[in-house]
Amino acid sequence: MLRTHTCGELTIKDAGKKVTLCGWLQRSRDLGGMTFTDIRDRYGITQLVFNMDSNAALCEQARKLGREFVISVSGIVAERSNKNAKMVTGDIEINVDQLEVLNTSLLPPFTIEENTDGGDEIRMKYRYLDIRRNPVKESLLLRAKVAAETRNYLYNENFCEIETPVLIKSTPEGARDFVVPSRMNQGEFYALPQSPQTFKQLLMVAGMDRYYQIVKCFRDEDLRADRQPEFTQIDCEMSFVEQEDILNTFEGLTKHLFKNVKGVDIGELPRMSFADAMTYYGNDKPDIRFEMKLRSLTPDPSPKERGENLVSGKNFKIFDDAELVVAICARGCAEYTRKQLDELTEWVKRPQLGMTGLIYSRWNSDGTYKSSVDKFYSAEDQQKWFEHCGGQQGDLILILAGEKNKTRKAMSELRLEMGNRLGLRKAGEYKALWVLDFPLLEYSDEQKRWFAMHHPFTSPKPEDIALLETDPGAVRANAYDLVINGTEIGGGSIRIHNKDLQKKMFSVLGFTDEDAQNQFGFLMNAFEYGAPPHGGIAFGFDRLCAMFGGSDSIRDYIAFPKNNAGRDVMIDSPSKISEEQLKELGIKLNEK
Ligand code: ASP
Repeated sequence: MLRTHTCGELTIKDAGKKVTLCGWLQRSRDLGGMTFTDIRDRYGITQLVFNMDSNAALCEQARKLGREFVISVSGIVAERSNKNAKMVTGDIEINVDQLEVLNTSLLPPFTIEENTDGGDEIRMKYRYLDIRRNPVKESLLLRAKVAAETRNYLYNENFCEIETPVLIKSTPEGARDFVVPSRMNQGEFYALPQSPQTFKQLLMVAGMDRYYQIVKCFRDEDLRADRQPEFTQIDCEMSFVEQEDILNTFEGLTKHLFKNVKGVDIGELPRMSFADAMTYYGNDKPDIRFEMKLRSLTPDPSPKERGENLVSGKNFKIFDDAELVVAICARGCAEYTRKQLDELTEWVKRPQLGMTGLIYSRWNSDGTYKSSVDKFYSAEDQQKWFEHCGGQQGDLILILAGEKNKTRKAMSELRLEMGNRLGLRKAGEYKALWVLDFPLLEYSDEQKRWFAMHHPFTSPKPEDIALLETDPGAVRANAYDLVINGTEIGGGSIRIHNKDLQKKMFSVLGFTDEDAQNQFGFLMNAFEYGAPPHGGIAFGFDRLCAMFGGSDSIRDYIAFPKNNAGRDVMIDSPSKISEEQLKELGIKLNEK
């Protein structure tokens, strides 16, 4: 070893020891007779002292070193007179008597410190320098910890880590595939896996029983904020299980990770049906750190909410014509000013939500009601709204009306926005839950056909199978999502393990028997050789890490991420390939 210690471990206990450290020069300060230099490695920073009186030549040499030079120093650990309580090594410094430059460095294009002066693009281009910075490095260390704890847990639960291939076959369901041309089979292509779904199911047919893998997956989607074309999943599958077993096993993993990574006990995970999530939160990944449930003022199609119409028949056309009139109650917000309400109105009118307006009703502290529709609705009417929403004196009700799906989605966003404004979505507070009973299928008006909501291998609930023929939209799936703080962290399902049912599913999805056989014959054939009942789940590993790190961005938790245009600006990829390579692959590019 070139070093006796790292730059992050020496403390007052080591005073008097002769040590050798290696690392990068963070910065130097010349104070006349002394030069103080910080040396940094992955483990921390240690202060070095060069003394003009005791060794002038060495001190001169130290003064010539540039930032990010790689150096090796030897000397004696000494107590500092000016201690820094914020650093592990803050009580000591090294009186250096030997210095070796292991490598020089160009001046880095941004400062390599906790807070840098470098913009996003330049830091991506020099990602290897950015990773030297503490926050980025810490994110990668956190990621490694989450991976290690995942492996610990799953290994102890008898899961076997198995690698599945990366060069596979393009299939039509799901997102767009990345494809790789085959040189040896010209005109044919591999696809990169969007997930190892079919392979893990084949491993169950193979008897491997409990499989997992921390695995790269690829989806060629238009990049939205915080999507990466390649991302990592904790991918798992189990045999001889029912939904309940999977929920318990992976609730266990979730708890284990929270406990061992964050030191947090998140308790039992509540469960909510998809239908309830949509009714009360307006989306299938509810943030349950706060209540503020959506309450429909028109009779709601969901059975639990069916009831009185609290708005119709008062000649208010907007409500009378609306498919859905839905409210939330913001605690203690009756005092909201005109300006605040106008601001919220503008907020729901943004093209992303596209609502035409926002209606409010205040229950003032003097007991009176004041709304933007007082002309149509009496105090008594408004009192009913508050009752229905569980509101109190001093609260504010916000109401949206319009087409069902659009209005529900807008209200879901408004709820989150109000949660933010009222400080109800606290960083550092974690609320996880299972969302269950998803519909098996969703209809695409554009393509005029049914699509699998999860994927085509997901099993319908046995009691709903008959509905596949008559009312496909009503069939519920044995599928589940793990949601934490309003983010979908994991999702999975019990699978179909019967060839005929799988065939039926493909036919509902509009495949001819021949197409199904061509695309998925390998799986359906395997089902003829004793496929066990099985099911599984996959966790979005990057997102999980970002959540543990308290960040919204998965990019910070990926060593070498792509930018928003799907480019790696460090290696400049994607890039053209040579004529020769193209020829070898038998690919002709269209001339523009
Ligand atoms: N393969 C699925 C996905 O990537 C997860 C699963 O069903 O296990 O979403």
